[in-house]
Amino acid sequence: MSHPNKQDDLEPLRHSCAHILAQAVQSFFPKVKLAIGPSIKDGFYYDFDLENPLTEDDLSKIEKKCLQIIDEGQTFSGRKVTKQEAQDYFKKKGEPYKLEILEGLPDDNIWLYTNGPFTDLCRGGHVESTCDVKAFKILNVAGAYWRGSEQNPMLQRIYGTAFYSQKDLDHYLNRLEEAKKRDHRKLGRDLDLFSFHEESPAIPFFHPNGMLLYNELIRYWRSEHEQEGYQEIRTPMILKDELWKQSGHYDHYKDHMYFTHIDKIQFAIKPMNCPGSTLVYRNTQRSYRDLPMKLAELGLVHRHELSGVLHGLFRVKAFTIDDAHIFCYGDQIESEIAGVIKLILRMYRTFGFNDISISLSTRPKESMGSDEIWNKATQGLEAALKHNQIHYEVNEGGGAFYGPKIDFEVTDSIGRDWQCGTIQLDLMMPERFQLEYVGQDGKMHRPVMVHRAVFGSVERFYGILVEHYGGSFPLWLAPVQIVLATISEKQEEAAGKIQFKLIDAGIRSKLDIRSEKINYKIRESELKKIPYVGVIGAKEIESNMVSVRVKGGKDLGPIPIDSLIQKLKEEITKKA
Ligand SMILES: [Zn+2]
Ligand SMILES: [Zn+2]
Repeated sequence: MSHPNKQDDLEPLRHSCAHILAQAVQSFFPKVKLAIGPSIKDGFYYDFDLENPLTEDDLSKIEKKCLQIIDEGQTFSGRKVTKQEAQDYFKKKGEPYKLEILEGLPDDNIWLYTNGPFTDLCRGGHVESTCDVKAFKILNVAGAYWRGSEQNPMLQRIYGTAFYSQKDLDHYLNRLEEAKKRDHRKLGRDLDLFSFHEESPAIPFFHPNGMLLYNELIRYWRSEHEQEGYQEIRTPMILKDELWKQSGHYDHYKDHMYFTHIDKIQFAIKPMNCPGSTLVYRNTQRSYRDLPMKLAELGLVHRHELSGVLHGLFRVKAFTIDDAHIFCYGDQIESEIAGVIKLILRMYRTFGFNDISISLSTRPKESMGSDEIWNKATQGLEAALKHNQIHYEVNEGGGAFYGPKIDFEVTDSIGRDWQCGTIQLDLMMPERFQLEYVGQDGKMHRPVMVHRAVFGSVERFYGILVEHYGGSFPLWLAPVQIVLATISEKQEEAAGKIQFKLIDAGIRSKLDIRSEKINYKIRESELKKIPYVGVIGAKEIESNMVSVRVKGGKDLGPIPIDSLIQKLKEEITKKA
């Protein structure tokens, strides 16, 4: 039987491995308290409450034991039990976490699954036998709070992965190795792009190099959006509580918001930009002739996240959303959505993201608004996708409670998927904020509101780019585009003059006039992943040239300075 290794197929395999792992851990540590063991995107984990931290030795022992269990070919069998039976069983075993999970389960659907000597509380979804696991590996152990809350005990989470073949596992491990080298937290440090500090946990500090890259991204974003008729706005970062009550954030999102008092009035620090933009829309009476109105905002938002889920720039407590809100009327939905899709795809391709998956999420069970308006909105999104011959998958019932949405996922240079852009139709906010426009009939109508982002979180997208490029940015994004390295101090003055020419041409350069050997300077520029080195010696100055080396070792030989500037400018414009 062939297994295409789709996520759906791997899930039972990996979830079964969580059982195998728990059995192995229990065999060495009989007093262990078991928490949960789900399958996840790249493997599985199990959370354990153990007296002592696990060592490398422990992990390798546990892995050996797992392989032994796999060899034994233990079969999985389930039986339905009453809640009382399950409670008695786990009470006797001394498993407080299982008892806590049981409390939240419905009385009539409780299953215990057994393989070999091991029994666990579980909904099912296993392979037939442990010997179906053809490739297994324990990856690492990390701390994780029970149920993700700092108030709860810290458990030890063992991560592992499994595949239907050794080849697939090897492929995955290679990718992991490559990902480690590209870790944006490491590269951020090595290339001096950004840092994190205890003084503001999980909020990044961007350094001069990092800001050059950040600003290039924003410059590109602005030029693309201006071309598409977006108008940029900026709204306050702190807004009164009333607004958040009106928007519904207070009811649904309060736990993730920060608050502050000013003159005894309570304000919230915005977690989203939408309510602010509705105030701008509402400030003036709008007519159908003003629509579509596309208000863009690079808005810095703050969200309180549990510290367990924070990870470099990928999950931070403050970030910029490259937001825009499109206010339009029903007949404009399709063309507006089509416009956004084109913009998003074009921008992704600029970064070499050519493998892009698109999904359409439809009405969830709990949602607001009539069927009629949902159908109209969903059809609008669908029509925009179909008419542009865009392949997409339908995520039935996966929409937001206020409207259907389209999500974009890009695949990076080492094959990892990242969800970035989104287009969401909103049927609620225009209602809550009483947004209106004067129609052709002279009467007041409710506009449709579209929320959309290309990057999503600019900071997260930045982190993705660092890993996608492995720090070797294309010329237009590179913080330093060329190093001017002198062979001796005699060329110092001339090198300075060349740098002025580069500055005039808008090219970011750095002088290296230290009394180091030229090969040392070239090697260092290579390590810093700077695209070009211009070597300046006596010969070069005599002929008004610079000897150019490309990152990676290619030698372009001497090039006249003006031609070099021309060449760099062309490459920057092409964004290749
Ligand atoms: Zn299970
Ligand atoms: Zn919004």
